[in-house]
Amino acid sequence: MKRLYGVIGSPIAHSMSPLIHNDAFLQNGMDAHYHAFHVEPDQLETAVAGMRALGVTGFNVTIPHKEAIIPLLDSVEDASLQIGAVNTVVNKDGKLIGYNTDGRGFVEALKEVVELKGKQVLIIGAGGAARAIFYTLALEEGIQLDICNRTVSKSEDLIKEFSLERIARSITVDQAAKEIQNYDVVVQTTSVGMFPQINDTPLQLVSVKNNAVFSDIIYNPIETKLLREAKALGAVTQNGVHMFAYQAALAFKIWTGKFPDTDRMKKIVEEHLGGKTC
Ligand code: NAP
Repeated sequence: MKRLYGVIGSPIAHSMSPLIHNDAFLQNGMDAHYHAFHVEPDQLETAVAGMRALGVTGFNVTIPHKEAIIPLLDSVEDASLQIGAVNTVVNKDGKLIGYNTDGRGFVEALKEVVELKGKQVLIIGAGGAARAIFYTLALEEGIQLDICNRTVSKSEDLIKEFSLERIARSITVDQAAKEIQNYDVVVQTTSVGMFPQINDTPLQLVSVKNNAVFSDIIYNPIETKLLREAKALGAVTQNGVHMFAYQAALAFKIWTGKFPDTDRMKKIVEEHLGGKTC
């Protein structure tokens, strides 16, 4: 019998997850289908009960349900509990188990372009995506992390909550801009610069460190203003398509045991968005 998978969220109509997962099922010769379900917050509990009742094999969870779904699941992987958000659920013999592949997806993608050991990293932003990324980056050996956020109390709270004072500090956006030459890696996690506000940038750049890597998790547009400016100053840049592909690939692996072709996933997203990844 065909296995069913999906994603729940709101809004969801423009999700690219069905495109890449349905292609991966085809590539792996699996009789399965992935569907995007529009679910409003007041329908989340009913939707999760429906997933159980219908025997859906696995599903992704996106905005605004990543936190709210936790109490509705039978169990949640420890790291995802710490992060406080779930983006992937697997139905194992009727039990719904939650995972978070956002942080690991981001770090796997970043490691394609930079070795992280001992690196000085700046994270811009302290929202939901930053939480998963900060938690996961902090597991890397010898890494030093600075976080700057418009609301400074949020980055301070994040460091305290994860007890990462030894390797992390919170700084202002102005301070980060002044000290930008210190960073080997800059990770942009805010929504600043996302379509349609494509001329906005979270940080004014005047220079970058030699061989610096700038990674922006935004994928629409394919190249944000921040990445464009960093590239012009000599940085290696990576856009959000890479994280998107890896978080999806890790979810696919949790559901099926198979790791799909991430280059193919990136290409599909890139074609859909009408640009070239960087
Ligand atoms: P979120 O929880 O709402 O966090 C938003 C972040 O952006 C906060 O740090 C917020 O700062 C900052 N921000 C928003 N507007 C700002 C402004 N005008 N000036 C300065 N800072 C501003 O959102 P999220 O879920 O973390 O998502 C953030 C971005 O990541 C979105 O663009 C999303 O599409 C992208 N994303 C990409 C992937 C991927 O796979 N590539 C995955 C997840 C998310 P304050 O704390 O001061 O409000």
